[in-house]
This record gives sequence, C-alpha cells and structure tokens, in this order.
Amino acid sequence: MSVRTQVLVVGAGPVGLTLAIDLGRRGVQCILVEQKEAPQFLPKMERCNARTMEIYRRMGLARKIRDAGFPRDVPMDVFIVTSLVEPPLVHLPYPSVAQAQAEIAACRDGSMPLEPYQLISQYTLEPLLKSVAESLPTVSVRYRHEFIAFEQDARSVRAKIKAADGMIEIEARYLVGCDGGTSAVRRQLGIQLRGEANLLQLRQALYRCDDLFERIPIGKGRHYHVADDHNSFLIVQDSTKHFTLHSVVDSNDDMKKMFEQVVAMPVQYEMLSCAPWRQNLLLAESYGQGRVFLAGDAVHLVIPTGGLGMNSGVGDAIDLSWKLAATLQGWGGAGLLASYDAERRPIGARNVEASRQASRGRRAWRAAYRPNIRDNTPDGAATRARLACIADVEQRKSNEMIGAELGYRYDRSPIVWPESGDPPADDIMRYVPTTWPGARLPHVWLSDGRALHDLIGEGYTLLRLGRTQADTAPLERAFAGYAAPFTTLAIADERPRAIYGYDLLLLRPDLHVVWRGNRLPDDPTKLAAIATGH
Ligand SMILES: Cc1cc2nc3c(=O)[nH]c(=O)nc-3n(C[C@H](O)[C@H](O)[C@H](O)COP(=O)(O)OP(=O)(O)OC[C@H]3O[C@@H](n4cnc5c(N)ncnc54)[C@H](O)[C@@H]3O)c2cc1C
Repeated sequence: MSVRTQVLVVGAGPVGLTLAIDLGRRGVQCILVEQKEAPQFLPKMERCNARTMEIYRRMGLARKIRDAGFPRDVPMDVFIVTSLVEPPLVHLPYPSVAQAQAEIAACRDGSMPLEPYQLISQYTLEPLLKSVAESLPTVSVRYRHEFIAFEQDARSVRAKIKAADGMIEIEARYLVGCDGGTSAVRRQLGIQLRGEANLLQLRQALYRCDDLFERIPIGKGRHYHVADDHNSFLIVQDSTKHFTLHSVVDSNDDMKKMFEQVVAMPVQYEMLSCAPWRQNLLLAESYGQGRVFLAGDAVHLVIPTGGLGMNSGVGDAIDLSWKLAATLQGWGGAGLLASYDAERRPIGARNVEASRQASRGRRAWRAAYRPNIRDNTPDGAATRARLACIADVEQRKSNEMIGAELGYRYDRSPIVWPESGDPPADDIMRYVPTTWPGARLPHVWLSDGRALHDLIGEGYTLLRLGRTQADTAPLERAFAGYAAPFTTLAIADERPRAIYGYDLLLLRPDLHVVWRGNRLPDDPTKLAAIATGH
C-alpha cells in the first residue's frame, strides 16, 4: 500500500507533535508516525520554558497546557537539602506561574517574556498534543507505525513504514526525523553526533505519593537536590502527587531505599517505574540532507540541567515549520529550507554549551560534599557552610538561564539582513531586549493592555512604529512579487518605538526580526528576496 502526503514526521515525542500541529495549522498535509502503541506514562521533561510557552500561545495552546500542568499558585523554588525534613542548605525562591504572570503584567521595558514557564510532565504534555494534532483535518496521526528506511530523489521521499498489519510506503515531499536520541532517520543519513557521550548513568524512578507534597516541612518547590554521594535529586511532577528521584545506585531496588532516605518521613508510596538513563552532551554534524530534516533530540542531546532538551526541540520545530509551509505553498525560495541548519545548529551548539556550564556548576557544589555533612560538629557545620556557599552561586546556572531561553539570535542567517556593526553581547544568564536582526521580537504591552506579539499574524509583518511617515509601499510590492503573505501593522504607541529603537521592523512568521531601520533600504527588493529565501 502506498500513501501520499506533503510532510512525513517520524516520532510523536513533544517535538514531532509540535511540528505536526504547527504544519497542520498552516494548512500543510502531514502524516505523523510513531512506533509506540500510545503515549507512555514515563517521566522525562517537566518544564516548558518561557519561549516555548510563547510559541504555544501563538499556537493557541498555552491555556490548555497550563490547565493540565502544575498548579499556577505553587512556587517553583529549588532546594539543596540533606533530606526533606532537615533545614535546607540552600533555598532558591522562584515565582509561581501566578506571581510570574503578575510580574510580567507590570513589566514595561521589554525585558520579560509574554508567557512565564510552565511545569508540565512529558507524560501529560504528549497526550495533550496528540489530541490537538488528531483534531486537525490536515494531520494524520498514526501510532504503531515504525519508520524503517527511506529513499529520496529530487522530487520526493519514500519511506517504508512497518504498521500493525504489514509494511506500507509513504511518499512525501519532505521527511522530518523527530525520532529522538537514537534517530533511525539520522543514522540512515550517516550523520554523526559529536561531543561527550555517557558522562554519567543515573536511575530515574517514578513514585506516587499522595500526601507528601502537602507535608514537606521545609517548603514547597519543584526540585530538591540532595547533597549526597549519589547525585540524587527529587523532582515534583505536575500533579504534585507524583515524584521522580534520580540517583546513581546499583539496582532498581536501591531506589526505594533512596526515596525513603530523602523523604525521611513515614509516607504511603508506590514506586511505579524505574529505568536507567545517561547524560550526554552531543550535537549532530548536520540537521538534514536534501528533503530530509532532523529536529529535537535527534540532533542535540543535553544534560537536562536547565531544561534545554525539549525546549530546544520546540524551537527547531517552529523554525522548520513555517519554512516547509512557505516552500510547499510556493512562495518560499530555495534558501528558506537551507537556512534551517544555518539557524538552528548554532543554537543547538549554544544550548549544549549552556547545559555543560550548568552541569559543571552542579558538579562544583557536589564536589564539596563530605560524609560528615549531617554531623552536629564544627567540621559538619563547616562542610554544610562550604557546600551552601558554592551551591548558592553554581546551582543558579541551571535555574536562571533566561538569556539562553529568550536571547538566542539568528545573527548570521542567510535569510536575515546583515546589519553592519557589532551585535549585542550574548549572555546565557541574562536577557537584554534587542531588535538586532535575527533576534526574537521583545514582548511589549500596548497602552490598551494588548500584547504586541498577539497582533502579529502568521506571515511577514512590517511594523510601522510611532508616527513614522516612511514610504513602505516598495517593500509591500516586493513581497507581493513573491506572493508571500505580508501585513503592514501601524502601532502609534510610543513605548514599542522607544524599546525597539527604530521606526520600521520587518518580522518573520516566527517573530524573529529580519531587518530594522527608519526608512527602507535602498533596494527593498533585495530585502524581500533575502527574507523569503530567494
Ligand atoms: C530525566 C529527564 C528530564 C528532562 N527534563 C527536561 C526539561 O525539564 N525540559 C526540557 O526541555 N527537556 C527535558 N528533558 C529532555 C526531553 O525529555 C527531551 O529533550 C525530549 O523528550 C525530546 O523530544 P523529542 O520529541 O525530540 O524526542 P523523544 O521525546 O525522544 O521522542 C521521539 C519519539 O520518536 C519515536 N520513534 C523513535 N524511533 C522511531 C521509529 N523508527 N519510528 C517511529 N517512531 C519512532 C519514539 O518512540 C518517541 O516517541 C529531560 C530528559 C530527561 C531524561
């Protein structure tokens, strides 16, 4: 049997699901194949970062995800502890979603995201995204369909898929491998992962314990890192009834003992699952070849300190989605899809490096652990003080990467206008709003309370700010020449003009800046050609 579609997506993890939904929303026909029977109740990621939540807001999913996730009024604090009942060595407070939303509502300088983070367990997010994908008439979601192999030529890709009732062939214009760290699509392309593999092997166990969260005497939060010699950390999952514990131990049985040791109170609990996992810092040599692209863990594997795994993958999906749609709809030039690797691979490298820094930070404070950490002696107190002092600096590297989340830029992209001068400094730990070409448009509230992001549509947008009289008709004509979707949006409010620093900004469908200025460049057709990849 042979089936045809425009895009075949392999793998229904969070990245493949996000890609399929965004393609479907853009009117692209796609088939999503997944080897599993159904989404599994296995823990992995638990935090969508601020940029991912902005993306989900644009896709109309933010509220749904918040409703399914961690309660909005629970703090996101991080603790370093010897157990859940002893005074914490370090307590790093982070706002609940409700508090963060209030801070964002009051922020007027463009320095905060439009949406704060959201804690939602991967096993909650995947079924949610699956049901959204299944509701789209353009998307066909097929579980129990295993990708086996493909061949491609100048016109199409043909993939062999093993379905429950035999082999089928799917012919597509493009194929995207979102099939995770062991990606069969990547292996068939002969693309290697480079970097550091198997840095550490831990076990992760999932527990159900209904009353633990309410009873934690030292305060509510989301992460409890244990100062021990097993690299243990306890993570509260979205229901607050489920917990995961990660630890370097010899057997699954040891994970029960470890849980009881960390909790250190008599509680009723059940250990639901346990499996080993490995820490890697790896990046693919390339993000695709010809008509075949790769996204998510298929091309980057990070240590999940700082949550740059799935969140980086959602960034890949959203960069690729509009470029595939533009190419299939006929207005995207050949340079659009070619820019995917040029834009996203440097971000993959940046995020692998940010994850390396964060995990070094964790290792730094863990190195201060001594077996006397609980002793009621001057030496024990000195160990606690020393570890706390290092951790108070180093642990923040995992939890405060707002620059990595919001500040990534496609500076050197071939589809971004090359502005002369030096780009602003790139800081993983700090976000400084900028409209330097390639940057994400900073979020700004308008005087009527609306977010400027929300007014920007799915095509290119030329923002006319303040009271500019600039003639922008030549640019509109240039985009019309490519039949590319283009809207001019005039915003008279003073604040966006002041924060963005220019009268005119050209934005892409993913809210990244292509160009800025106070009047059009001398050759507006060149700008339109660059932006659309011609
Ligand atoms: C303990 C832990 C905590 C984490 N915490 C965070 C966090 O807080 N934030 C964050 O951003 N990231 C986190 N991550 C990383 C995150 O889980 C991954 O980055 C994310 O799952 C990657 O998504 P993906 O869709 O690319 O790949 P995956 O989730 O691996 O999905 C790939 C899918 O492809 C399917 N597949 C594979 N081969 C085939 C085939 N041949 N045919 C059909 N289907 C196939 C698989 O069954 C799977 O469903 C964490 C990871 C771990 C291990």
